[in-house]
Amino acid sequence: MNTSYTQFRTEREANTTTCAKTLETFLSTIDAVNPSINALLSTSADEARAAASESDQRFQNGTARPLEGMVVAVKDNISTKGTRTTCGSKILENFVPVYDATAVQRLKAAGAVIVGKANLDEFAMGSSNENSAFGAVKNPVNQEYVPGGSSGGSAAAVAAKMCHTALGSDTGGSVRTPAAFCGVVGMKPTYGRVSRYGLVAYGSSLDQIGQFGTSVEDTARLYDAVSGFDDHDATSAHYEPHNTVQSLKNPLPASFTVAVLPESQLQGCSEDVLNVYHATLERLKTLGAKVVSHEMKYMSALIPTYYIIATAEAASNLSRYDGVRYGARKIGADGEVTTATRSQGFGSEVRRRIMIGNYVLSSGYYDAYYTKALKVRRLIYNDYKAMFAEADVFLMPATPTPPFKLGEKLADPLAMYLEDIFTVSANLAGVPGISLPMGTSTNGLPLGMQLQANHFDEAKLLNIAYHLVGA
Ligand code: GLN
Repeated sequence: MNTSYTQFRTEREANTTTCAKTLETFLSTIDAVNPSINALLSTSADEARAAASESDQRFQNGTARPLEGMVVAVKDNISTKGTRTTCGSKILENFVPVYDATAVQRLKAAGAVIVGKANLDEFAMGSSNENSAFGAVKNPVNQEYVPGGSSGGSAAAVAAKMCHTALGSDTGGSVRTPAAFCGVVGMKPTYGRVSRYGLVAYGSSLDQIGQFGTSVEDTARLYDAVSGFDDHDATSAHYEPHNTVQSLKNPLPASFTVAVLPESQLQGCSEDVLNVYHATLERLKTLGAKVVSHEMKYMSALIPTYYIIATAEAASNLSRYDGVRYGARKIGADGEVTTATRSQGFGSEVRRRIMIGNYVLSSGYYDAYYTKALKVRRLIYNDYKAMFAEADVFLMPATPTPPFKLGEKLADPLAMYLEDIFTVSANLAGVPGISLPMGTSTNGLPLGMQLQANHFDEAKLLNIAYHLVGA
């Protein structure tokens, strides 16, 4: 079955299908495939059926909304009222939010049908989705391989045809990496463009809710519906909801400028990645791109800067899980609660990051690490601003390697962190980025190429992306 929402909508409008029927197809795929892929941690079939039946009525009486009947999976760190939101962690295993995240509220108001909650690396910390307390997600293209993380469940659910689209979150690449590894489209909008209200915090100055789809158009529709100012989020940008779908298919300008890294800064990439990268660049040229080389001045500082800031913010954000206010509560032999709760409730990667974060924030090291990282972050931002003064978009691979095997990098956290080399800079600078399925590796696994644009330039980014993938 083709799982494009745009195509479904045309068919629904022509009365050749129904929302209810489409939902049932997705639900049977979930039943058949989810036990092995482990993409969804919970499904809400009853609520989804009720929503789909309302959607059918609305198509019938001419009041269909922008996402009417779109079947969506939501990453399990995005709050859903009355439905378990675990963050992939034992510490929140039985946590049921009392409110919907703004993005979820907007999905519902636009007519979307929420089918389930997607698996993730615990608290969105990871690049392979092997850090979930509820088991790894497998890549639907080849189950011996990782789907990418941390929004691996969202990407795998879309790729395995369990839903039309999905929401994820991206702090340092967690939408773009799994999109690349699963062969779907995944976008991280500009920081502040989508409300973070109800997104469980990891690195608050980096976090952004992102969108997955099988096409640029579906991704754009989903993004438009959840974007826009929200007074529940103090860092929400004062902009109306975006309407990128309107300009998506506009012809490209006769000439536009694409910035690329000098080949020396792509040296760490695998040959498969480089081949698809060069083919993508050629295609952009045939679309009229003028190419300029931009050396990223702080490339070697990207991973350290990101992991200092992200872990510092995570250590602070996760201090609320103390066994008193939220989630699980464990009591140690001596009657002590906080240490017992945190050491039993958090997995090893989360504990590692809390340790690093508290270290870089400790009084003796604060200036040497945390303050320094903030200064480097500003330099990275300035470098981006200089690049976008002369370029419309920036082309890079989404990841330096194709998907790797489950377990392959688990023992080597540093190798895992290096997977993020091309994604973290967009979060540090706050700019939007999109991963597009542009080819496959020699062993047939998906590869994603990434375009980034200046702050709030999603319409331009999606327009170029649309023409690039030839949708
Ligand atoms: N892989 C990165 C990390 O582990 C990014 C995670 C994310 O974007 N949530 O921090």
